[in-house]
Amino acid sequence: MSDVRNVIIIGSGPAGYTAALYTARASLKPLVFEGAVTAGGALMNTTEVENFPGFSDGIMGPELMDNMRAQAERFGAELIPDDVVAVDLKGDIKTVTDSAGTVHRAKAVIVTTGSQHRKLGLPNEDALSGRGVSWCATCDGFFFKEHDIAVIGGGDTAMEEATFLSRFARSVTIVHRRDSLRASKAMQERAFADPKIKFAWDSEVAAIHGEQKLTGLTLRNTKTGETSELPATGLFIAVGHDPRTELFKGQLDLDDEGYLKVDAPSTRTNLTGVFAAGDVVDHTYRQAITAAGTGCSAALDAERFLAALA
Ligand code: FAD
Repeated sequence: MSDVRNVIIIGSGPAGYTAALYTARASLKPLVFEGAVTAGGALMNTTEVENFPGFSDGIMGPELMDNMRAQAERFGAELIPDDVVAVDLKGDIKTVTDSAGTVHRAKAVIVTTGSQHRKLGLPNEDALSGRGVSWCATCDGFFFKEHDIAVIGGGDTAMEEATFLSRFARSVTIVHRRDSLRASKAMQERAFADPKIKFAWDSEVAAIHGEQKLTGLTLRNTKTGETSELPATGLFIAVGHDPRTELFKGQLDLDDEGYLKVDAPSTRTNLTGVFAAGDVVDHTYRQAITAAGTGCSAALDAERFLAALA
């Protein structure tokens, strides 16, 4: 049986590395499970990040994450590029099992496992990510001045992305597989009133075109099966996110959409000594800086919790 650590952090995006940095600098010697495939989190899959404060010329996503990792390591965070496959968070001593079956023990756990944006599942989608295909208008809208953009989805997020993008774009086409929207009335009305926004009703994306950059889409009518071409150099996919909370079901409280619930403004979950931060909690802001900010809060909450035990 391993020694009982002060704190184990599950996840290595901006939230996890920031929690690691703060707990390491508080001499808590955190153990961080970074994930086997996606250590560094969502920004490892993007190119330029222009909105993380402190980098006036922007920074590449992977470089930003390498810097965060190195900063946490410099102060003594122990980083393991492996997945956590099971947890028992209920007792005073929490257990976390890695993929080799080794059980690690800690007095506090910080969960920062992020969320996964849903994809359309089309062949070119990943290859053109950062080359016209995006999942975040706040992050990438600025790159699309005077572009013709398609937004996929019919909910609040899709309407919000479309109305935000219409500030930059020449045109925005909302592609929705039904003939009415799921979005709230207010969001719908804002989109309907926007002269730059058009709608492709009863339509789904059948193919994404482009080699180095997106050039257009083939749409398929969901009622008739007919196809049509939509020239577009921007594609924003807004069909939802899946928080990575499978591991915690039955132990930590989740909201209706599967995100971890915390006692906001703190990062405390329903279980004593377990804290959560970043996109696994947040379905509103979903930015690197907000994830890093709540990662810091989780570290401070854990630090105070551990100090009260001593
Ligand atoms: P994530 O970054 O998702 O990290 C979660 C981590 O948890 C991953 O490393 C994963 O491997 C790990 N993990 C999950 N399950 C386990 C497990 N069982 N065991 C161990 N580890 C696990 N935001 C901006 O502010 N600016 C941008 O320009 C920007 N561009 C973006 C571009 C793209 C393509 C995407 C997808 C997102 C972008 N974002 C941007 C959003 C930003 O990346 C996220 O808001 C941020 O990364 C969330 O941080 P997080 O730490 O909560 O989670």
